[in-house]
Amino acid sequence: MPSYTEENYLKAIYKLAEAAPGEEVSTNRIADVMQTRAASVTDMLRRLGEKGLLHYQRYRGVSLTAEGRRLALQTIRKHRLWEVFLVQKLGFNWDEVHEVAEEMEHLQSPLLIRRLDEFLGFPQLDPHGDPIPTEDGAMHRPQHRLLGDLAPGECGTVVAVKNTSPLFLQYLDKVGMGLGSLFEVLDKVEFDNSLEIRVNQNQVVLVSAEVSRNIFVTA
Ligand SMILES: [Zn+2]
Repeated sequence: MPSYTEENYLKAIYKLAEAAPGEEVSTNRIADVMQTRAASVTDMLRRLGEKGLLHYQRYRGVSLTAEGRRLALQTIRKHRLWEVFLVQKLGFNWDEVHEVAEEMEHLQSPLLIRRLDEFLGFPQLDPHGDPIPTEDGAMHRPQHRLLGDLAPGECGTVVAVKNTSPLFLQYLDKVGMGLGSLFEVLDKVEFDNSLEIRVNQNQVVLVSAEVSRNIFVTA
């Protein structure tokens, strides 16, 4: 059975590879995400390599084996199901669940997770709009556009957030934006690429380029 730390490494490597397909998953990038030194990462990579969970070649980067990928997807599945549970059944807000789910994702009972999935009605998405992998590890990530890529005059719906940090989600709450919010791009400020948008046919909000690069939309 993998340790908490091992599961966290597998998850981080999976997400790095997914975020930039074709790009090398380097020790430095993993160290960045795991907030640790490159030397500690190298040790852990060797250990995971010996367990048959990844291939690691110095200067070539890291790739997960089928078993490593399976474990990463199971951890992501547990994390996202627990997030749904916390929001839907325990009344947590979407900015409060990530840290708690970071702990719960390491519970090891497959039966518990199967019952949880059933209890929640087999949800497809977590509270941040991220897809929940199936028990077999299938995960379909729709290709959504980023709000920041839209031009004035375009309309759409917010479907997911790229950044799930509490500060970002609290900001969205403050300006009245969440999953399902309708919006219309009114103007783009050429100077810094911030956007003026109308949210839910109601208030007008000025969002920075940084914010608009972290919101997925259908348009
Ligand atoms: Zn989360």
